Amino acid sequence: VTFEKLGVDPQIVEACKKLGFKNPTEIQRKAIPEALAGKDIVGLAQTGSGKTAAFSIPMLQALLAKPSGLFGLVLAPTRELAVQISDQIEALGAVIGVKCAVLVGGIDTMSQSMALAKKPHIIVGTPGRVVYHLENTKGFNLKTLKYFVMDEADRLLGMDFEEEINTILKVIPKDRNTFLFSATMTSKVAKLQRASLNDPVKIQV
Ligand code: AMP
Repeated sequence: VTFEKLGVDPQIVEACKKLGFKNPTEIQRKAIPEALAGKDIVGLAQTGSGKTAAFSIPMLQALLAKPSGLFGLVLAPTRELAVQISDQIEALGAVIGVKCAVLVGGIDTMSQSMALAKKPHIIVGTPGRVVYHLENTKGFNLKTLKYFVMDEADRLLGMDFEEEINTILKVIPKDRNTFLFSATMTSKVAKLQRASLNDPVKIQV
């Protein structure tokens, strides 16, 4: 199977080729068509499976079809992972001119507020710092959000980000697409899934 056959836009297929992605990985084969059809997704997948592109490609394709203010928010448990995700989204979305902002701890908040002022399409961040900016950066809100992704949900919850995630869930639109990825399905992840996803397709690789 090729990315084209999964319904991926030619411009994004081209970006995949540039990154050396010739054929979709298993998680990508299973997740991309469902996501392009507008489904919420729960994906049980490990790092190395290609899960980042599995959620990034449909998000970028939806952005390409209907650009609007702040479009996507991806939560990750660590700054290293957030930076990796942002790099991959920017590489896949370069052809469509996607702007990403990274909101993580350990970096000064002022430069992040300035990045937010430039109206990014997609934010990748750790929950604590995203909530900090919701509370402290004037003009920043998540009202136009269309895509919400929780990556490595088991680790997000293991790091006690539950309260911050709940804060974010309260302020994002109900009418959105949500993806939750986790290496393991724990009772906490199941609870978060029930609280945040709408009739999700479950994919395991
Ligand atoms: P991830 O599981 O998202 O952390 O991805 C693991 C690695 O696989 C990353 O370095 C990606 O760049 C790479 N990758 C993702 N999708 C593909 C693909 N379809 N073909 C080849 N490499 C890929």
